[in-house]
Amino acid sequence: MSVRSSEFGTLNGLNEGLLADRVLVGGVNSPVRAFRQVGGEPVLLAGAKGATVRDDAGRTYVDFIMGWGAQILGHNPPAAVQALRRQLAAGALVGLTHPAEARLAAMIADVVPSVEQLRFTVSGTEACMTAVKIARAHAGRSKVLVFDGCYHGHGESLMAGKSAGLPNALSGETVSVPYNDVGAAERAIERFGQELAAVIVEPVAANMGVVAPEPRFLMALREFTSQRNIVLIFDEVVTGFRLGYGSAQSLVNVQTDLTTFGKIIGGGLPIGAVGGPRRLMQHLAPEGDVYHGGTFAGHPLSMAAGLAVLSALKQRPPYQRLERLSQRLADGLAHAARDAGVPIQVNRAGSMLTVFFSDQPVRNAQQAKASRRERFAQWANALRRGGFLIPPSPFEALFLSTAHTNTHIDRMVRASRGAFAAMR
Ligand SMILES: *Cc1c(COP(=O)(O)O)cnc(C)c1O
Repeated sequence: MSVRSSEFGTLNGLNEGLLADRVLVGGVNSPVRAFRQVGGEPVLLAGAKGATVRDDAGRTYVDFIMGWGAQILGHNPPAAVQALRRQLAAGALVGLTHPAEARLAAMIADVVPSVEQLRFTVSGTEACMTAVKIARAHAGRSKVLVFDGCYHGHGESLMAGKSAGLPNALSGETVSVPYNDVGAAERAIERFGQELAAVIVEPVAANMGVVAPEPRFLMALREFTSQRNIVLIFDEVVTGFRLGYGSAQSLVNVQTDLTTFGKIIGGGLPIGAVGGPRRLMQHLAPEGDVYHGGTFAGHPLSMAAGLAVLSALKQRPPYQRLERLSQRLADGLAHAARDAGVPIQVNRAGSMLTVFFSDQPVRNAQQAKASRRERFAQWANALRRGGFLIPPSPFEALFLSTAHTNTHIDRMVRASRGAFAAMR
């Protein structure tokens, strides 16, 4: 075919960064990858192995993005690669139900007490959207309570006030209050209780940077929602199998109604899941009237990689080692900043952490936004020059994997020491 061959010829002559700028919006397929928040050029990553990634010019970096938390065993863990090879040989997409779907669902249901049944989706976005639909159908109400700074993907109700292109009517259907503010949550639930279908929350927030829940916060949400038959949804897309083998809800001892998963459970392939007790999950088609389906839902490759990774996590739980590595990183960074006289807050939960350039504790989105973002950008750019990649946004988490070693951590701390010293 010779359709506009001259134009394709021109495009093919560009280097890939310029080509990306030309043919992808902002050069990316997900906005944070554009590095706008740290004022840098996007990195094009051509390959990855273990704790390191390689850019298109052949430079390697120690990676603290780790697929935004999905790669808990590092990049290309042998167990997942083998499982993927086997599944690829057996057929990438079968189009009907595949036995591995039930096996992965059972592994999750086994360790998450609130989950009896699951539905797999292709993304965390889709899982959260579907959870909200189930809640609305169940409660016969439409409003949703969310928390400032939490992220639940870009489903319409969950993006109200944060994106253009939504129906005006939607903005009244989503109520947002500060994270960790029991009083504000209680007032909102009292005021809108008769109209609220769901409260959705990240049990440990990871999308305003890491912010841990204060002791009473999640428990209070459980009490308020139980009293009013509001569906409580924990978004465990990040926390599921990250903080321990299973869910954060077990760690905080709160029984939720619905839970969403993603990231780690796909072993590096696209996935999402919503789970809960049968009485709620039965609202989904074909049992109930809430429609969800998908050409790629329960994709055999995602199931294979997810099963391989969860099995490895179950057989040899790495969580204590990850905790020690993460503590070492947090302590090292805090120490380096203190020596440099640069005030920082290191917010950490297990193997995820965020450095806020602030002299005040950060326990909600407002406090996160008050941190000094230009210092974050300086730090991120200095690390990048030194061969370390962290998320190019002050409101994301650094993630560790089992492929990271003390040496990686110590080198990163040393590079940070230099960056902090330059800030004075
Ligand atoms: C990443 C994320 C999502 C969205 O998942 P996608 O697979 O990117 O659509 C939802 N909730 C939380 C807490 C996330 O971190």
